[in-house]
Amino acid sequence: MSRIAHEMMRHEFADAAWQERHAVTRVDQLRAWVGGDADGNLMRDIELGLARAPMAMRITPYVLNLIDWSNFFQDPIRKQFIPIGSEILPSHPLLRMDSLHERESSPVDGLVHRYHDKALLLATDRCPVYCRFCTRSYGVGLDTQLVSKKRASPFQSRWNTILAYLRATPVIVDVVVSGGDCFRLKPSQLLAVGTGLLSIPSIRRIRFATKGLAVLPMKVTSDHEWTGALVNISDAGRNQGVEISFHTHFNHPREITDYTIAAAELLFKRGVRMRNQTVLMAGVNDDPEVMKQLVKKLSDLHIQPYYVYTCDLVGGIEHMRCSVGLACQIEKDLRGITAGYNTPLFVVDTPGGGGKRDVHSFEHYDRQTGIAVYRAPSVRPEQLFTYVDPLQSLSLDAQAAWSDPQRASRILSDAIEVARAKSMGFE
Ligand SMILES: *Cc1c(COP(=O)(O)O)cnc(C)c1O
Ligand code: SF4
Repeated sequence: MSRIAHEMMRHEFADAAWQERHAVTRVDQLRAWVGGDADGNLMRDIELGLARAPMAMRITPYVLNLIDWSNFFQDPIRKQFIPIGSEILPSHPLLRMDSLHERESSPVDGLVHRYHDKALLLATDRCPVYCRFCTRSYGVGLDTQLVSKKRASPFQSRWNTILAYLRATPVIVDVVVSGGDCFRLKPSQLLAVGTGLLSIPSIRRIRFATKGLAVLPMKVTSDHEWTGALVNISDAGRNQGVEISFHTHFNHPREITDYTIAAAELLFKRGVRMRNQTVLMAGVNDDPEVMKQLVKKLSDLHIQPYYVYTCDLVGGIEHMRCSVGLACQIEKDLRGITAGYNTPLFVVDTPGGGGKRDVHSFEHYDRQTGIAVYRAPSVRPEQLFTYVDPLQSLSLDAQAAWSDPQRASRILSDAIEVARAKSMGFE
């Protein structure tokens, strides 16, 4: 390639609009990306994977470029975004769509009000990429063969209803703007959501949660209008005593490139506070060394590692979930390697709507059956919540028990009973 062509390519590659225009959403585009070497069997396997996935596919060329195609099956970046039919395991019998019961905790469409003083605003249902393990597979992204999505479109009228609820509910002081992803909002829409929230006097903290910095970092360095809108909101918030922060979603140290460094430096210099949330996934980051590198790299970029979540129960990703026991082990290995405030808290977002709990704080955990039972006194004091380890982490006998509805319901009620007895002992 001539030097000029190469420079033009580089220039295009660093342009977020070019990345978005060339995002890959279909297998034939993926085949074209791979070119002459495309393996027909693999492409068919991906088609089978997509047919069983609750999430549509969308990947930026930037992310495609991070994938090591010579190690496609094992690659930690690939695993997050491209399903392969032959790797999908049967789901755990306790898997339900919307396992966190978000829709049931929504007083108005697009706002989840589960905790006392904080709420989650779903600004849009689009993201720059779609992650296979997305909790919000009931609503985020395009329809798939399996799921027709509950839309959350980026419309002012929808936001107005949400803002009216927030204004009328001053107990809420903390709003997470998620979705969907604010990287898919136009600058004017980002400003509208930000200034709308800043106009509500009771709100003290606003966070924009985004996968964008991890999958489209050139947005920050090339879309000046969008970054300007974000910085404007951040400055306006600071001036009126409201903290605005930016919550990123990096899962693997290889997701941090020169593009990421340039974007994070720009945001840091312009005073945007950043924190990171990671999802713990088998074959991606279920290794203390990988997690240590991730934490160190994020800390160097002044992105504070905030949470590591165990994977929610989402269809088609059973092979990527990790046990509660493994999450506890990795947390133990991690704590102490760097500043405590840069050491993430490992959490389980409890199925059934108990909210996030420290992974170690179970009332009862049985490694044999893979059941962990949590209480959530600040959310629903009367209830107990269970998280279940993936079946493949259990003995064959325990797996057989789970596949028999009668035995499954017995081991579940036994675990609840033990947990109730144990937690009573403290009261
Ligand atoms: C995660 C979450 C929040 C924010 O919780 P933090 O623990 O403060 O990060 C708020 N509302 C809902 C529904 C959530 O899932
Ligand atoms: S970026 Fe976030 S909201 Fe979007 S698909 Fe991924 S996990 Fe879901």
